[in-house]
Amino acid sequence: MDVIIGIDLGTTNSEVGVIRSGVPIVLTDDGDPILPSVVGLDPQGKLLVGRAARNQYVLSPERTIRSIKRKMGQDLTVDLGDQKYRPQEISAIILRALKERAERVLGHEVRKAVITVPAFFNEGQREATREAGELAGLEVVRIINEPTAAILTYDPNPPEMERLLVYDLGGGTFDVSIAMVESGVIEILSSHGDTNLGGDDFDQRLLDFVCDRFQTEHGIDLRESSRARSRLLAAVEDAKKRLSSEPVATISEEFIAEMNGSPLHLTQDVMREDYEGLIEPLLAKTLRCVDDALSDANLRALQIDKVVLVGGATRTPLIHRMLEDRLGRPVHSEIEPDLAVAMGAAVQGALIAGVDVGPVLVDITPHTLGIEVMSYPGGFPNPYQFSPIIERNTPLPVTKTDIYTTAHDAQKVAEIRVFQGEEDDTRLNTLVGEFLIEGLAPVPAPNSLLVRLDLDLNGILKVTATERVTGLAKHVVIDNMMERFRNRERVNAIDRINALFDDVDHAPAYDASPAPRAIEADDDSQSDDDGTENELLDAIEAARSLIAKSEELVAAAAGEDAAEMKGLVQDLQAAITRSSVDDIRRVSAALDDLVYYLSDV
Ligand code: ADP
Ligand code: MG
Repeated sequence: MDVIIGIDLGTTNSEVGVIRSGVPIVLTDDGDPILPSVVGLDPQGKLLVGRAARNQYVLSPERTIRSIKRKMGQDLTVDLGDQKYRPQEISAIILRALKERAERVLGHEVRKAVITVPAFFNEGQREATREAGELAGLEVVRIINEPTAAILTYDPNPPEMERLLVYDLGGGTFDVSIAMVESGVIEILSSHGDTNLGGDDFDQRLLDFVCDRFQTEHGIDLRESSRARSRLLAAVEDAKKRLSSEPVATISEEFIAEMNGSPLHLTQDVMREDYEGLIEPLLAKTLRCVDDALSDANLRALQIDKVVLVGGATRTPLIHRMLEDRLGRPVHSEIEPDLAVAMGAAVQGALIAGVDVGPVLVDITPHTLGIEVMSYPGGFPNPYQFSPIIERNTPLPVTKTDIYTTAHDAQKVAEIRVFQGEEDDTRLNTLVGEFLIEGLAPVPAPNSLLVRLDLDLNGILKVTATERVTGLAKHVVIDNMMERFRNRERVNAIDRINALFDDVDHAPAYDASPAPRAIEADDDSQSDDDGTENELLDAIEAARSLIAKSEELVAAAAGEDAAEMKGLVQDLQAAITRSSVDDIRRVSAALDDLVYYLSDV
C-alpha cells in the first residue's frame, strides 16, 4: 500500500511526518526534524535548501529566498541568481527536499502527501500549495488546515463535542483558531492572527537590547556591520531558546568588533525577566487576537475545553502563564509544538489510507515540581509559598532552572525543600526531598542561587542548587518520582481541602507559628492572597455560585449587559485559577452588582 506522508509547509520551518507502528513520528535528517523553509544558491550556483541556505541569508540575501509562503497564491516572481521563479516553484523545492528525506528514511519511493495550510488561506493560496506539491512530484491527496492537524495529533479519534483553541506562534506568523469537534469532524469556527508577528520579532527585540547595551558601553553600533549582525542574530536566537528553560542566558561572541586596532568581545548576561519585558507588548497583541477569535465564534473562554499550543515560539514559558491567566482553561503543549502539525498531517494521511492510528504517547510529569520559598503577601512573611519550576504536563526528559535569592545578609545556609503538587501553599503539596546548601559566601542579601531540576525518562529527579557568585553547588538525587506520582498518598490535596470544609468552624487548619524558610522567591513569585486558605475557599465557593447565577441570567440579558457579564465571568474564573482572594472578591463584587441589576429588570 502507498504511504501518505504528512507535510507541514511552514513560513519559517517545514517538517515531514509518517505513521509508524500506529503512531505519528517526524522524520529527521542527521537527527534534525526541522528543515528551515529557505532556498538559496551558493557562490558556485549550487542549490541549497534548509539550514545551509538559511545560514547564508544575512550575508547573501540576493542569493537566498525565505518566507516564500507569504507570497503563495500571488501572481509574481522572485529572483534567485539570474532566474525568476513563481512562489509555487520555490515551495516545490522545499517539498521535494522533504519527499527525498522521507524516501531516504523509509527506503522506498513516496508518491502521496497531505499538506497543511493556515486556516485563513483562501482558495488561490490553497491551489498554489497543491500545485507546489505536484511540481515536487507528489500527489496531494488533501490540503488540511494547520489547527486541524494539531488537533488530530492530540486526538486522532476525536471525542464527541469538544471545543478547542489552537494558539500557533511560529517564526513569522501568529494564528489563533477556535475549533469544534463533533462526530469525528473538526470544524474551524473562527480564525484570527497577525501575519507579521512571530519568534523572529523576539530575536529582533533581543538583538536591539544587546546591541544597545554594547553601544552604550563601547560607542559602536554592531547592527551596522552585516557580519556582526548575522553572528548576533544566531546568538540571540540561541539565547532566546535557552531562556525558555533557564533564568539567565550568557551571550558570548569573541572578536565581534574592533576599536583602535584592538579586538572587542561581547559578553552579556540576559535575564529572563528582561527578555520577557521585551516581548510582552508583542504577546499582548496575540491576546487581543484570542479575544477576537472567541467573540467571532460566539464563545466565552469558559466554554473552551482545551487550549493547544503549536509553533516553536510557544515554548516560551511566559506564553503558558499568560494564556492560563487570561483563559483559565487547561493549556496543552505535551507534543513538541513545532512538530505537532506535521504529525497531524500524517494522521490525516493514515485516516485517508484506512490505517489505524493511536495517540502520541509522551511521558509527562503529572504534577508540578518546585520548591518552597518565602513570600511577603501584604508585607507579612509567608514561609510556605510554593514556587513551581517544572509545570505539570511537561514532556520528559526535562531540565529547568530558576533563580532565587537569600533572605538575610551573610546567610550561610539555604534549605531547599522540593514539593510536587498544584497548590500555592506547600503544606497542601507533597514533600519529595530536601537538603541544605551550606557555606554560602558572606555577602549581603540578595545572594542569587540557581535551583535546577533534571527529571529523566526513568523518573529520576536530580535537584541542584548553585550559588551564582562562587559556583558552590550541592545536589540530591530523588529516585522513583514516577512511583511517587502513581502511588501518590491517598490523602491528597483535594481530600485535605474537603477536610478543611468539614472543620471550618473547629480547629485552625495549620500550625500558626511556622519556622521561617531560608530562601525567598525572586519577585515573580505569586504573592497574591493575603488571606488564609479558608478565606480563599469561601471566596471561591461564593464565586462559583455567582457564576452559576450569571449563566442563568446571561441568555436573557441585552447584548451589552450580556457581553459585560461574560467578561466578568471570565475574569472571575481567571482569578479563581490564580487563587487570588483579592481579585476574586473584587471581580465578584462587580459581577454581583450586575446580577442584582439584571435580576431586577
Ligand atoms: P513556522 O511554523 O513559522 O514555520 P516554527 O513553528 O518552526 O515556525 O517556529 C519557529 C520559531 O520558534 C522560531 O522563531 C524559533 O526561534 C522559535 N523557537 C524554537 N524553539 C524555541 C524555544 N525553545 N524557545 C523559544 N522559541 C523557540
Ligand atoms: Mg507552523
